[in-house]
Amino acid sequence: MKYPILEVDYNKIFHNAAQMQKICNNYNVSISGVIKGMNGTFEVAKAFAKAQHKHLASSRLRELKRIADSNLNIPLMLIRIPMLSEIDEMIQYVDISVNSELEIIKAIEKACIKMNKKHKIILMMDLGDLREGYYSESEMIEVAKFIEFNMTHVELYGIGTNLSCYGSVMPTKKNMTRLVNIAETIESIINRKLDIISGGATTSIPLLLEGNMPKRINNLRIGEGILLAVDLQDFHGVDMSDFYQDAILLKAEIIEIKIKDSYPVGKLSIDAFGNKPTYCDIGKRKRALLALGKKDIGTHEKLISVEPGVKIIGSSSDHLIIDIEEAERDYSLGDIIQFRLYYPAMLYSSQSPDVEKNIINLPKKR
Ligand SMILES: *Cc1c(COP(=O)(O)O)cnc(C)c1O
Repeated sequence: MKYPILEVDYNKIFHNAAQMQKICNNYNVSISGVIKGMNGTFEVAKAFAKAQHKHLASSRLRELKRIADSNLNIPLMLIRIPMLSEIDEMIQYVDISVNSELEIIKAIEKACIKMNKKHKIILMMDLGDLREGYYSESEMIEVAKFIEFNMTHVELYGIGTNLSCYGSVMPTKKNMTRLVNIAETIESIINRKLDIISGGATTSIPLLLEGNMPKRINNLRIGEGILLAVDLQDFHGVDMSDFYQDAILLKAEIIEIKIKDSYPVGKLSIDAFGNKPTYCDIGKRKRALLALGKKDIGTHEKLISVEPGVKIIGSSSDHLIIDIEEAERDYSLGDIIQFRLYYPAMLYSSQSPDVEKNIINLPKKR
């Protein structure tokens, strides 16, 4: 085995996806399963499709292209506004995209006509998070009208919003009701119901469970809540005991074990990343060094220690430093230590060429 390894338990991912689907079914909400957090791993897409998610979604065309070339029979959705430069490719592989610029939508229509393709669009409304989406309701309504009445190959599939990303704004009954009101204004103008009113991502689940999500919200785009299922519990107090939080584990190998001071020796300046970390002097400690670094995980702060007594204390580009003074296991060189992950560590490690991916518990072929 080559380390580090990102171990992905297919069965557990499927269980989590099916569990999330069950919750959403209770509220008549479909799921667009978001695969970007795992670099579009095919087996993750497969588990989502098997769990009856309505679409597979990613911000990266590269990931969706790979799924399109496979035999998963499920609509694909690009959840980052397409670049003008990727439209030709997008309409070949992707069924649905989110949009907020008429110029781009016109370019999609033009490309669709040229290539005799159809494409569905979800218009994004910015409800205050200040990332993508129309900021003016009337502008969005005008564009919706324009698509409906002037375009032949681009179809207005619905509207949506994204929250809790840049502006950390939470979905609430108030902002979701605003989205529904805009949808209903559009519906009255185009004289038909929109297929999709997409009310956000994983962070919309608490509102759903509280019973405060407006009934007309009928889609969520969910990644983290299925893959790791830690944010809802750790940051939003949702009981996630029906989900596996260890479906994805990162395993790294020990390359040094030594007793060292806990406070650096000498005149302190800045670390390798230009930061001025603070150190706590707790005397000499038994430490281990692992062959895994910021290059693979972003920062050690997004790893969760699961082995008893193991404390994560720091990292540089290629090294992870842990305190094993109080560890239950008696570690030796070459031993493997595993961690659970928060979203950023999954995002980085799943695309690191130095991190092997190992998919376990795949269904047996018959
Ligand atoms: C990444 C992303 C999501 C999924 O977010 P999770 O927190 O993983 O559920 C949903 N919508 C958009 C537009 C995204 O970019």
